[in-house]
Amino acid sequence: MPRCTWLYVLGSDEALKDSYVYVGMTYRLVTRLKEHDAGKGAHTTQRWDYSHLLAVYKIDDCEEHDHSKENCLTTQIMYLKGAAWWTVRGGSSTSTNKDRAVPKQLQLFRNTPSEKPRTCYCMLPCERKVSKEGKPYITCPRGNLQWLQDMIPQSVPDGCNFFDWDT
Ligand SMILES: [Zn+2]
Repeated sequence: MPRCTWLYVLGSDEALKDSYVYVGMTYRLVTRLKEHDAGKGAHTTQRWDYSHLLAVYKIDDCEEHDHSKENCLTTQIMYLKGAAWWTVRGGSSTSTNKDRAVPKQLQLFRNTPSEKPRTCYCMLPCERKVSKEGKPYITCPRGNLQWLQDMIPQSVPDGCNFFDWDT
C-alpha cells in the first residue's frame, strides 16, 4: 500500500496574500511542522517566521522522490500571488530573491489559462478528493485542520465550506 503523503503550506501571515510562503512535502506531517518551528532562524534559508499553517493537501498516489505535485502547488500559489510570486518557496524554487528570473514553470502556467487553479473562498488552491461513490470533488485545503492544532506550534486557521464536483 502506498504511504500517504502530505503537501503543506506555511505562511508568515494568516492570509496567503500577505504571506511569505513555504510549500513542503512530507510523510510525517506533525513531526515536520515541529521541525520547521525548531529550526526557526537556524538555517540561512529560514529567513521568515512561517508561524501559520495555511493549507494541507493529502496525496495518496505519490512516489517517493516525486516532487512534481509539490512543484505544481508551488507554481499555483506563485500564480495566485501575482507580482509577489517571488515570496513563495517550495519544491525546486528555494529562493525568495526578489530579483530572480520568473521560473519557467510559472511562465508556462501564465501562458496556459486552462491550468488556472480552482480556489476556495480562502483563495487557496482547492484540494482534490474522491467521494465514497468514487466521484472526484474539490474542497477547501483547510477543510478540517483543527485536529492538528494541539500538536503543532503553528497557528491553524478555520477553513471555508467551498465544495464543487471536479469535472
Ligand atoms: Zn477555503
